[in-house]
Amino acid sequence: MPGRGPRRPGPPVSASLAPAQAPLAAGPSADDLTAAERDRILAKAAIFAPPPAQLADGRRDLVGLSRDELIAEMVAIGEKPFRAKQIWHWIYHQGKTDFAEMTTIAKPMQQKLAERFVVARPEVATVQTSTDGTRKWLFKFRDGQQVETVYIPDDERGAVCISTQVGCTLSCRFCHTGTQRLTRNLGAAEIVGQFMAGRDSYGEWPSPKDEPRYLSNIVVMGMGEPLYNYENTAKALRIIMDGEGIGLSRRRITLSTSGVVPMMDRCGAELNVNLAVSLHAVTDELRDRIVPLNRKYPIKELLDACRRYPGASNARRITFEYVMLKDVNDSEAEARELIRLLQGLPAKVNLIPFNPWPGAPFETSTRAQTERFADVLNAAGYSSPIRRPRGRDIMAACGQLKAEMEKGGEG
Ligand code: SAH
Ligand code: SF4
Repeated sequence: MPGRGPRRPGPPVSASLAPAQAPLAAGPSADDLTAAERDRILAKAAIFAPPPAQLADGRRDLVGLSRDELIAEMVAIGEKPFRAKQIWHWIYHQGKTDFAEMTTIAKPMQQKLAERFVVARPEVATVQTSTDGTRKWLFKFRDGQQVETVYIPDDERGAVCISTQVGCTLSCRFCHTGTQRLTRNLGAAEIVGQFMAGRDSYGEWPSPKDEPRYLSNIVVMGMGEPLYNYENTAKALRIIMDGEGIGLSRRRITLSTSGVVPMMDRCGAELNVNLAVSLHAVTDELRDRIVPLNRKYPIKELLDACRRYPGASNARRITFEYVMLKDVNDSEAEARELIRLLQGLPAKVNLIPFNPWPGAPFETSTRAQTERFADVLNAAGYSSPIRRPRGRDIMAACGQLKAEMEKGGEG
C-alpha cells in the first residue's frame, strides 16, 4: 500500500510509529532517511521489472540499450566499438528497423547483425484518430501487455503522451489507470518504442533537426507513475535526448509525478527535464483522500521538493496540475489557498477538466466555476490555462482505451 508509514511531521502519528521516530537526536538524518526511502522505491521497482528484451528465437532488441551497452554488444560479437555509433544513428536518427537499409554497414555485417539482433517496435493493437486530430494507440508488447500512448497535435507541433507502467500502484480516486493494478514496469525499449512508433505513424524520419516537427514534445503523463519506474524512464529519456539520435532537448520533455518526493531530487539532478506535479488539492485532508500518496509525502514536503528542483525559475516554471472536480476542490477559497501555497515558487497551474469514466465518483466542474478559479489565479499573476479536453470521442483519458478493449474481451 502506498499510504503505509506516514512521515508527516507533528500529530497525528499513529502510536505504533511513535517509538521509531522518537530518538531523533541519535537517529538517522533526514538525508539518510531519504536515501533509504529511495533504495526501497528502487527495490520495489525491480520486483515489477519488465521481461528481457529478447525474442523467442534468442535475438536481442537493440532499442533501449544505452550507448555503452550498445558498444558492449558490438565488442561481444567481435566488432569495433565505433559500429555502435553508426547503428545508433540508423536506429534513432534515421528510424530504420531493417539492418539491410543501414547502408554504411557492409552486407556481411548486416547479416551478422540480423542473425543476432532486432530493432523492434511495439505492435499497434489499435489506433484511433479523433475528429480534433488527437491520435491514440494501444501498443502491445512481446508478453502481451498493453499500454496507451496519445499524440496531441498543436498546429505544426505536438506532444506525445507516453506511459511508463502497465497499471499503477497508486490509486488516485479520479484516475482510471488507478483502478487497474500494477502489472509491471515498462522497460526503456518499451518507453522509447512508444515515441518511435508514433514517429513511424507520421513518417517523421529522419529525426528533424528544426521545425516543423509534428512530434516535437514529450509528456510523461500516460499510464503509471514514472518516478516509481525511475531507472527505465531515465534510461529512455536519455536516449531520447541524445543529440545524435532523436535529439529532443530536456526543455521539450515534461515528466509528471503524483509526488514521489524522494525521487524528485534525483530526477532533477540527473535529467532536469520540465517537472509537472499533480497537486489537485490544497489541504492534506482532501489530498490524502484523492491522491493517497499524500499520506506518505504531504503537501509541504512535496512543495519543498519543488523548491529544490533545479532551474525552477521564471523562465522554467514548474507546472502544477489541478483536476477540476465539481464541489470537491473547485472553490475560489481553494484557489486563494493555492496561491498562498505556491508563494515564491515559479509556477504555472494547468486546470484540467475532469475526464469522466464509467463509474467515476466525481463530476467535472462547470465551465463557469473553472473560469472563476482561473480568474483568481490569473489575478495573482499565475498563468493558469484551462486545458481543452482532447479526443473525447476516442476516450483519450488516461487508461480508458485499454479498459474498453479488455471489457470487449480483446485484450
Ligand atoms: N502518474 C503521474 C503521471 C500520469 S497521470 C501523475 O499522476 O502525475 C497524468 C495526469 O492526468 C495527472 O495529473 C493525473 O492526475 C491526470 N488525470 C488522471 N485521471 C484523470 C481524469 N480522469 N481526468 C483528468 N485528469 C486526469
Ligand atoms: Fe497513478 Fe497518476 Fe493515475 Fe495517480 S493519477 S493513479 S499516480 S497514473
